[in-house]
Amino acid sequence: MTGQQRPHPAEGPPPDRPRPYPPHATPHTPLRPLWCCRACGRPWPCAHARLLLKAEYADNPVGLSIYLCGLLYEATRDLYRLNPDDGPSPRDLFARFVAWGLYRRPALPDADLPEPGR
Ligand SMILES: [Zn+2]
Repeated sequence: MTGQQRPHPAEGPPPDRPRPYPPHATPHTPLRPLWCCRACGRPWPCAHARLLLKAEYADNPVGLSIYLCGLLYEATRDLYRLNPDDGPSPRDLFARFVAWGLYRRPALPDADLPEPGR
């Protein structure tokens, strides 16, 4: 330990997406610091939240990835504060918050894919 404090990153984005649908319904947004859905109680993002986020960010998959990465950061901080000795693994948190999103680079460019039947 150096005794020196490292700089603290700024807060992540507010977890205010997806917007409620229909508009008067309870939104499928996370309840902090537990990161369960405020509408259905499942771990956030629940299936309903994922569907709504995919629809809301259909034209902006990079924006969805940035939003989800920001919430991954916030959730990691909250969940490890709540349970510092036995929190979820980084791999599990990444799969839960980010890996399901729309933005993925293809494994191979289409031109490099083998032709069918070869
Ligand atoms: Zn939900």
